[in-house]
Amino acid sequence: MLLRHTSKEVTERSALTVNPAKTCQPIGAMYAALGIHGCLPHSHGSQGCCSYHRSTLTRHYKEPVMAATSSFTEGSCVFGGQANLLQAIVNIFAIYQPEVIAVHTTCLSETIGDDIPQIVGKARDEGKVPPGKYVIHCNTPSYVGSHVTGFSSMVKGMVKYFAEPATEKTRTINIIPGWVEPADMAEIKRLAGALGIETIIFPDTSGVLDAPQTGTHAFYPKGGTRIEAIKKTGASKATVALGPLASGPAALELETLCKVPAHLLDLPIGLRATDRFIDTLRKLGHVTVPESVADERGRLLDLMTDMHQYLYGKRVALWGDPDQLVALTEFLMDLDMRPVYIVTGTPGKDFERRIADVLGAAADGVRVRQGAQADMFLMHQWIKNEPVDLLIGNTYGKYISRDEGIPFVRHGFPILDRVGHQYFPTVGYRGALRLVDQILGVFLDRQDRESPEERFELVM
Ligand code: SF4
Repeated sequence: MLLRHTSKEVTERSALTVNPAKTCQPIGAMYAALGIHGCLPHSHGSQGCCSYHRSTLTRHYKEPVMAATSSFTEGSCVFGGQANLLQAIVNIFAIYQPEVIAVHTTCLSETIGDDIPQIVGKARDEGKVPPGKYVIHCNTPSYVGSHVTGFSSMVKGMVKYFAEPATEKTRTINIIPGWVEPADMAEIKRLAGALGIETIIFPDTSGVLDAPQTGTHAFYPKGGTRIEAIKKTGASKATVALGPLASGPAALELETLCKVPAHLLDLPIGLRATDRFIDTLRKLGHVTVPESVADERGRLLDLMTDMHQYLYGKRVALWGDPDQLVALTEFLMDLDMRPVYIVTGTPGKDFERRIADVLGAAADGVRVRQGAQADMFLMHQWIKNEPVDLLIGNTYGKYISRDEGIPFVRHGFPILDRVGHQYFPTVGYRGALRLVDQILGVFLDRQDRESPEERFELVM
């Protein structure tokens, strides 16, 4: 057994994290930045941080993730990284010619206390930023928060740097999709398009981290939100923020700066969350829901009722990011399954309340933990004491799955050992169909593998 040292006995810990259920802030900032067309993310810190962040994104998306680094040495650690960042800005614009450099900090530069706005201002004053080009930033010290808060901070940075207030509002609705896959962003756009609504979606990694093979290397793939579009978000009639943690701060910033009303929704994962998303767009856009979208919903309902016998009462352990977990928990409840263990390493105020709201009367006996000690080790201990029927989470759950022989659906970030997540959405009604398909698949695979010969069925 790979995790043979995981004990059954749970001891409360205050300082130790074992196999955290989160990763570090700059990864999220880097991912968000890649959702702007022609953007080169820049890591203000040492090379090792940047390599780790790039390689984690590359392993998840199976695409080469480009980013630059300030390459701190011993000198920068003592005297600060201003000289490195100024030189980096000159080199990057000269060699890689991005439209925008999106700078995020690291533990090291935050501990030193580098003042990024002051350094960027100096670069601009000294003519190091070419006309029509931009440098934006966000702070991402990784001893607080997680990859989700890093994502959230970079998206808020986009608003701060680009959004322009306008007295005349347009009919456009901004959509901030949250930390979801490129395929999810494309699906959100498709659904809004099916309703006939004009949108600006930002950031948008579709066409960037799922870019097609064309035979020609494109340093900046054709996807990503154009800077001109982000500037116009201040003139839109409303913003729909999907995932209050990942998208809320940017939407509220836009509301403050440009008086664009913010609507904070859960990620549209599952039936009811997608209903709320579609209904919000319907009301804001003054449109009717087309038959094609109603049919998609009907297909999902049909599958949920047809397969109920395989799903009813199944105990589920899930881990990952708060916005994802809240929506997933609600969907599992709709499937008549029983989410019993829920952990996230991402700190924050609202998570346990949001989960309790979703669970309602079923909250009794459900274990929910958040923060540094809400880790995969604790999750495994709970499972050892009272097993579950299904695991849903990122790749790191494969050890528990193998040791305990529990079916496992990969969902969230990172998924390092499979493909598909970047190509097939899990948001919207179609995405929910895929989720049900994945869950059924692992249950029925297990049944086929373990059933005695006389119970081995050709037809489900
Ligand atoms: S936790 Fe801090 S030091 Fe470690 S990779 Fe992330 S930013 Fe760098």
